[in-house]
Amino acid sequence: MPAVKADPDVIRICIDPGHGGENLGADYNGYLEKDMTLVVAEAMRDELAKYEGIEVYMTRTSDVDMSLEERVDYADEVGADFFFCLHFNMSADHDMYGAECWISAFDNKYARGMDFAKIEMRALTDLGLYDRGIKTRLNSKGTNYYGVLRMADEVEMPGVIIEHCHLDNYNDEGFYDHHDMLVKYGILDATCVAMYYGLKSDELGVDYSGMTYEKTPIPSSVVKPDDTEPVLESVVYGEPYQTESGTWIDAEITARDDDCRMLYYSYSTDGGIHWSERYRWMDDEGELIGDAILTNTIHTTIPVSTEKDMYVIFKVYNLYNLDAESSPYYIEKAPAPEEEDPEQSAEGSSSAAEIQNGSDGGISGYSDVNRYDDITEIERPEEEVIKPDTAFIVIACILAVCILLVLIILGYVVYDNHRSSGRRRRR
Ligand SMILES: [Zn+2]
Repeated sequence: MPAVKADPDVIRICIDPGHGGENLGADYNGYLEKDMTLVVAEAMRDELAKYEGIEVYMTRTSDVDMSLEERVDYADEVGADFFFCLHFNMSADHDMYGAECWISAFDNKYARGMDFAKIEMRALTDLGLYDRGIKTRLNSKGTNYYGVLRMADEVEMPGVIIEHCHLDNYNDEGFYDHHDMLVKYGILDATCVAMYYGLKSDELGVDYSGMTYEKTPIPSSVVKPDDTEPVLESVVYGEPYQTESGTWIDAEITARDDDCRMLYYSYSTDGGIHWSERYRWMDDEGELIGDAILTNTIHTTIPVSTEKDMYVIFKVYNLYNLDAESSPYYIEKAPAPEEEDPEQSAEGSSSAAEIQNGSDGGISGYSDVNRYDDITEIERPEEEVIKPDTAFIVIACILAVCILLVLIILGYVVYDNHRSSGRRRRR
């Protein structure tokens, strides 16, 4: 039963540190999500305590097991106006990175969730995290997939799941630790709450009461997630070219998704057996435009192998991790460089990788320099590609045969003339 608010002007929020007890959450390389979310939550609570007009509750303040239902019930009991679920992320193939927010797909819970998540995502991307978007997800019954959002909906409480960053991908490595960075997240989350509600703090000397933002209209129907793949419209390849660091080829990729924006791209150089890491889908300036990356066309550069011929395929991913692939493109192996300077070539590769990643301050550089070393030989595709020297040999052979034929015919004509004139003489 919801508590009766003592002061109707006071905002009450509930912070939910994800997981706890037996439920570890993400578990990676000595990091446990259940511990991390508690540090963030405590810092968030402590920061919000410095603001006026807000009461903060926490679903748990120690390492205990709690069901999703218990969490939402608690928030409802204290009369929370908003439910903030704090999490850290991991992906099955360790290939994803960035921050994302999940919100309810329904009416004002969607609209208020979106309003807050926009402020939160702006703050997280300002840190340098990649924007994986603000999304809804539905289960087979057509209600919210995530239990906390589904149950919060039932009591008409807006909520958000904040996935601050990924623990298992080097792109996000600088964005978490065992304490300081987590406290920073807590303060960031608290500041976003203060901005969302227009709070002020004499202690901090900040006043967000004048802050305005365009409120998201309440949707007339359920906001469904995108369930269709993007369309990879074209990949245009340049001619291979040499720099001191190796041979490269430029590619212009155009992809489109009418329902959501593009997120990542990756490529294979062996016809789809091995794939590169995922790169950010950024326009040429590496800029996010508002809350979305609006460009359909991006430019990238990939190294041309000196070891073997390449069959290049690009894969593009939309915001919902659905993908599309290009058809294979044959690139003949580059001539081996005249002299090997391993130090210099490694340096060169990482600078080229910066171009691919879009330069984004604070993101660690490219580490997988020798990515072709472990690529196994593959069979050639059906289509035979005629190389320039093969073509030259074929033409030379045809010419030689023609000359030989002409000589034979000439020889026969001369011999025949000689014979017939001899016959005439005899007559
Ligand atoms: Zn989690």
